[in-house]
Amino acid sequence: MAASQIANLVEGFVGHDDNANVTTDISNTNKVEGAQDTGEKIKATVWAGKNKVEIVDMPKPRVIDRRDAVIKVTGSTICGSDLHLYHGVIPQLEKGDVLGHEFCGVVESIAPDVSGCKVGDRVVASFPIACGQCRNCQMELTSACERTNSNTITNAMYGKRTSGIFGYSHFTGGFAGGQAEYVRVPNADVNLLVLPEDVPDEKGLYLSDVLATAYHCVVDTGVKEGDTVAVWGAGPIGQMVVEFSFQQGASRVILVDGGNGAWRLEFVKSKIHNVETLNFTDLTRRESVTSKLKEMVPGGVDVALECAAGEYAKGWTHYLEMLSGAETDTSEILNEMITSVRPFGRIGVTGVYAGYTNHFNIGAIMQTGIRFIGNGQAPVQKYWKHLLELIREQKINPLDMVTHVVQLTDVPKLYKLFEQRTTGMQKVFVRTRHSLPPSPEAPALIDLANVA
Ligand SMILES: [Zn+2]
Ligand SMILES: [Zn+2]
Repeated sequence: MAASQIANLVEGFVGHDDNANVTTDISNTNKVEGAQDTGEKIKATVWAGKNKVEIVDMPKPRVIDRRDAVIKVTGSTICGSDLHLYHGVIPQLEKGDVLGHEFCGVVESIAPDVSGCKVGDRVVASFPIACGQCRNCQMELTSACERTNSNTITNAMYGKRTSGIFGYSHFTGGFAGGQAEYVRVPNADVNLLVLPEDVPDEKGLYLSDVLATAYHCVVDTGVKEGDTVAVWGAGPIGQMVVEFSFQQGASRVILVDGGNGAWRLEFVKSKIHNVETLNFTDLTRRESVTSKLKEMVPGGVDVALECAAGEYAKGWTHYLEMLSGAETDTSEILNEMITSVRPFGRIGVTGVYAGYTNHFNIGAIMQTGIRFIGNGQAPVQKYWKHLLELIREQKINPLDMVTHVVQLTDVPKLYKLFEQRTTGMQKVFVRTRHSLPPSPEAPALIDLANVA
């Protein structure tokens, strides 16, 4: 039985808590009362089972709680972490749940207690759903909000709560996501940021997640002037982590990837020329990522940053252990990082890990004084105003990541292509029928029907 099904069963016994101050588990308006009574239908991307997503018609969401807003979506995207949902490895995803945690749009309607934005504003949403009032929100740790996720499984598994997340299963509250034409946003005053006119959707969208996640990874792990940094995973997060590491003063940054993802090393290098690359597919039998890194940086790098994920086993041992349920995540990259950093070096883990792992080199962490930091889901609200200013000052350009622009109706095909990783697809902008005229800086729209 998959871990996700077990979690559902367990929660059936334990039940929901009453901590949440928002209405949760409205991830499918076909199934629950969350719809408008106008009879109006919208298109939305739903999970339809392992490795299958569909575009369906469903009732349009409406405001429910007093701090809700409903957003007409003008831009959305797909994320590496959507693939974990697609593969069915995230607990408590149900067929018919609307996906997508990164989106921007226009405020269509608001509840009476919303402040900070009004109907007609162009906005971007943060993927963590925060309340803005609890102890953790007060410390700007919005992804650890205690009042937007009534699910009891996270509390049981992690000993503490995580916030609600859009389009990310009932494990994170059961909120419908933004790969759709409309979305309900709870606590809109905290979870929406108004976009100024000089920032087009094709740039502002990425404040939802990837920019804040990458920035958080770098500053939370403490990258500083003169550091040598190695980054595992050359996807969009890894790309921006390289960018932000240099901005924080890193003297050298080495990007590690291989296999189907190897082309991304050259892609990132074409945008950030001073990055060095390590393709692990090119290593000989006698070499390892660690030995190669030690050759490049004698004594080991100061900082190692994980921007890949624990779902992808490299060798047979972990492949079989994950298949048999003996672990949920592989420790291969973590162990590479542990042996690659210098004594008393720092490790930051931003790629998604869900549960338990075997053969973890805890001895090396203790014996050589490694600072091993789980970066957590990024508290987007802590950083997004600063990042918005960096975009406006042209210190970062989110379009450096964007290789494809597609239509919402092509999203099922998009999941397939994105998963293959061989198609030159780094980050995507998904247009809806509500999208504004395209920004001249963005790539042209691609009809995925013509892509093999
Ligand atoms: Zn994401
Ligand atoms: Zn909170």
